[in-house]
Amino acid sequence: MKTDIERAMQILEDADAVLIGAGAGMSVPAGIDLMDTKSFAKAYPAMLQYGFTFGYQLMGYPYHDDRLRWGYLSASLKNMFSLGIDPSYQKLLNLVKDKEYFVMTTNVDRLFHKNNFDLNKIYTPQGDSSKFQCKLPCTNEVWDALPLVDKMVENIDPETQFLTDESLIPKCPNCGGEIYMNVRSGAFYIDDPYEQEKERLNKWLQVNASKKFVFLEIGVGYNTPGVIRYPFEQMYKQLPHSNFIRINSEHPQVPEGGIGLKTGIVEFLNEPLN
Ligand SMILES: [Zn+2]
Repeated sequence: MKTDIERAMQILEDADAVLIGAGAGMSVPAGIDLMDTKSFAKAYPAMLQYGFTFGYQLMGYPYHDDRLRWGYLSASLKNMFSLGIDPSYQKLLNLVKDKEYFVMTTNVDRLFHKNNFDLNKIYTPQGDSSKFQCKLPCTNEVWDALPLVDKMVENIDPETQFLTDESLIPKCPNCGGEIYMNVRSGAFYIDDPYEQEKERLNKWLQVNASKKFVFLEIGVGYNTPGVIRYPFEQMYKQLPHSNFIRINSEHPQVPEGGIGLKTGIVEFLNEPLN
């Protein structure tokens, strides 16, 4: 009698086309865990004095001082940019690299890009934190965040997490106003850079939907279920021949016929392939 994980692995092995939908749970083992108090205390000890104990508390936080906003944001961006090759991403790539695959992810950490997934087969509807944009926005242009972040992190007071030099607070080069990461976090979000990716995904679906098709959803919770979770369930219902695998340590419930695995991605991928 096969376990559910073994059944899921077999389905993936037999598949011709795999649509991967990845949420926050995919990047937790790689080092991005916004709920983790230990890594937060280690990386941003100065933030503890203000009452913060994990990263998620600072999502959309209305800072009273831009020097603290950018002192923290630049440090956390720098930590994200420093992540690269990760065993879970690599094993996932090995599973699908000889098939037709496409990735859709709510993560803005570029870890699929960095782990050598085909750049033409990644769709990031929630944006990319390595880009900055105007917060109005006055222009639809986006800018490379890395050089600005590098400069900021060299000028953070370790006692307070404040930028020591106010002139380093990044400004829109066009209007001089506030800037922010090019990630979906308000009406100002510019999604133009990702429209092409979406078109590529739609074309890929047209070509591959009739094949031996698998929806493989990983670590997608209920923060933004309308982006991956619900659309995947709807598409699955429209493709009666397809398979549906959900890897989720908290919410593994699946539509009829699907396989819901109450597990993390590391445990799933540790299952040896036949
Ligand atoms: Zn502007």
